Amino acid sequence: MMSVLRVALICLSVLILLTLGCSKSTDPTEPDTSSDDRSTAETISIPDKPSGPSSGEVGESLEYTTGGASSNLDHPIVYRFVWGDGTSSAWNSTPRASRAYATAGTFEVFAEARCADHPHVGAARSECLSVTIGASTHTVSVPTTPTGATFGSVNQTYTYNTGGAVCSHGHAVQFRFTWGVWPPSDWSNAPAADYAWAAAGTYMVRAQARCTDQTGIESDWSEFLTVVIQ
Ligand SMILES: [Zn+2]
Ligand SMILES: [Zn+2]
Repeated sequence: MMSVLRVALICLSVLILLTLGCSKSTDPTEPDTSSDDRSTAETISIPDKPSGPSSGEVGESLEYTTGGASSNLDHPIVYRFVWGDGTSSAWNSTPRASRAYATAGTFEVFAEARCADHPHVGAARSECLSVTIGASTHTVSVPTTPTGATFGSVNQTYTYNTGGAVCSHGHAVQFRFTWGVWPPSDWSNAPAADYAWAAAGTYMVRAQARCTDQTGIESDWSEFLTVVIQ
């Protein structure tokens, strides 16, 4: 008896999973039957399967379009995209939206359409587009160890140089230095910066680079140059 019950439960679970699965859900959504106003009987036709890249990388902005849905009462339509990671775009009359995934994985993306004037009418759901997101290949290489004076005097200004950093996507890069004293220099297009230490000591000077197109893409800090200030 127990095993029969178990098999029955497994079958039920499989049935529920299939019903929830993306590819099995292409039937149009029923009008909202909780509404008393049955005279309108509005229905929305299925929007187009999302069109756009089926692969990308973490942090890359990917654009998708849909369309093709209509109301049988000729009311205006709004669309949104459900991104498959628990988020969706805002409802919009423009059937287009962009998404940058924060994690790698495969996501089932679909579009929904509903009446702009009657949000209680059930949304129609498109077929899914499977989107595979891989790890980001957008990196900036480490700049060269700074060069410049290694001995100096307090309150004297010295110039340090670096270079050699490259963005893997071919964008321009910017540089900054840290002086062994907070704060680092500002980001600059020039691979050089000046500094004057206010106190005697031994300081480690390092350089860092970042992409100018996506400034969140930063290199590791370079190896350090030791500077003795007396
Ligand atoms: Zn309507
Ligand atoms: Zn870049």
